[in-house]
Amino acid sequence: MYLGVILNRVFRIKDNPLFDYVAEHQDEINKVYFILPIEDLADAAAVKRDYYHKVVKGFVSALDKYNLHPYIVTYEKLGELVDTLALSHVLVAKDIMSYHKETYDYPHVKKAFEKHNITVIGQRVNHYFQPTKTFNKQQQPYKVFTSFYKANRQDLVHTPKKSYQYKQLAKNAEKGSNQSDLKLKNNKDIEKLARKAWNDFLNDDIAHYNKLTDDVTQDFVSGLGKYLAYGLFDIREIINDLLEGYDSDETNYEGFIREIMFREFYYVLMSQYPETATKSFSKKYRDMQWSYNKSHFEAWKNGQTGYPIVDAAMKKLNRTGYMHNRLRMVVSQFLTKNLFIDWTWGEAYFKQYLLDYDNASNVHGWQWSASTGTDAVPYFRMFNPIRQSERFDAQGYFIKTQLEIFSEVSSKIIHDPTKHKTKFKENYHIEIGKDYPEAIVDHKNSRDYVMHKFKQF
Ligand SMILES: Cc1cc2nc3c(=O)[nH]c(=O)nc-3n(C[C@H](O)[C@H](O)[C@H](O)COP(=O)(O)OP(=O)(O)OC[C@H]3O[C@@H](n4cnc5c(N)ncnc54)[C@H](O)[C@@H]3O)c2cc1C
Repeated sequence: MYLGVILNRVFRIKDNPLFDYVAEHQDEINKVYFILPIEDLADAAAVKRDYYHKVVKGFVSALDKYNLHPYIVTYEKLGELVDTLALSHVLVAKDIMSYHKETYDYPHVKKAFEKHNITVIGQRVNHYFQPTKTFNKQQQPYKVFTSFYKANRQDLVHTPKKSYQYKQLAKNAEKGSNQSDLKLKNNKDIEKLARKAWNDFLNDDIAHYNKLTDDVTQDFVSGLGKYLAYGLFDIREIINDLLEGYDSDETNYEGFIREIMFREFYYVLMSQYPETATKSFSKKYRDMQWSYNKSHFEAWKNGQTGYPIVDAAMKKLNRTGYMHNRLRMVVSQFLTKNLFIDWTWGEAYFKQYLLDYDNASNVHGWQWSASTGTDAVPYFRMFNPIRQSERFDAQGYFIKTQLEIFSEVSSKIIHDPTKHKTKFKENYHIEIGKDYPEAIVDHKNSRDYVMHKFKQF
């Protein structure tokens, strides 16, 4: 066979099932062409675009060391390239949910290759489970996380590492060329950095995971999301490490495994109900009359809502492409409940910015907050952004790192500037409504509105 290996978002040298496939099928392969289609990220935030390019470049440099030179093309030119190369087969990752565009997903790409009369071989690369293997007795996906977790947790087992020889991979490989406008100089090996970050987390921070995971002021989370989104690790390798260290600290290791299982749970659901990418999972809420108030949306995006915890979180997202999980819950509840804006707007905005964007986790995270999802937060448990701020950023440290204007403000009043207007002016010469916005909505009024809207269904 004349095999094209599509490498996007499987940016790893080690434990790469696509490489393993090539090594295992050497006898059937006449020629192999490693192909790296570059995503169009024109509508992504610069911070996300830059990170993607940094990872790609690091990967290409790492491949170079093993004498592997992929063809680098844009997705738009992929069809032309495969025709020129006269491929008979392509090997494609079938479980990636982090692409920036839906058209790069497996079902779309598969169809496109089949139009060129190319046989498509789909391979698991970035998720642990095959969706159908996780189903309940009725052969349906679990719709409640705890049931999914209980039923499938025992199937997390140690998986042997792949042991292909890089020399072997290069043997039948054609040397590709860079047909994109990506400049490939001075690159860091991000896979190495990712491994170091993961090992540091295992050696140190995981010991505090359960207790401190919700503390937005301290980074005791793993930061793994952005590595998983680009395929810098196989999740099976992560699970191997967790199972190896498990006996040393069962509580924290299990706590972390549980979070990884959320990623699998949402992946399974999204693979079975792809329409929920834009439609409420809960059918009864599909006719909800959401708000499409653009000025409210702009205020939320730009961190101008008058709720410091929301504004600080959004400013951090805009600057770094990252937001802590607790804050994702706070800002998404604020958008969908306090402002009653359609969750798909928030989902799309996160997609533009999040380095760790993953369609399944993002959509279901948003639907959880909007109370339209499976196993979602009930609408009557609406977050109060001020209480959340007092609880998870009690001293206001996080707020102060993002909103410099509050650097001297006491933790007693920092969470609710509108209520403490006078003190802000007298004590700190900060005029609420001028130097910092007044709250754009009143929490109690928005709560009443949300209850009223949801009760209609
Ligand atoms: C509105 C909203 C949007 C979200 N969007 C995304 C997204 O686009 N991509 C994404 O990976 N996660 C998303 N999440 C889940 C979660 O916030 C991130 O996985 C986590 O913050 C990433 O940081 P970390 O890797 O340091 O997490 P850690 O706490 O170190 O967790 C380790 C890993 O477990 C998985 N995980 C943890 N919590 C969740 C969760 N609630 N759902 C699914 N997987 C989880 C992730 O793979 C994560 O990398 C979203 C959550 C919400 C509420």
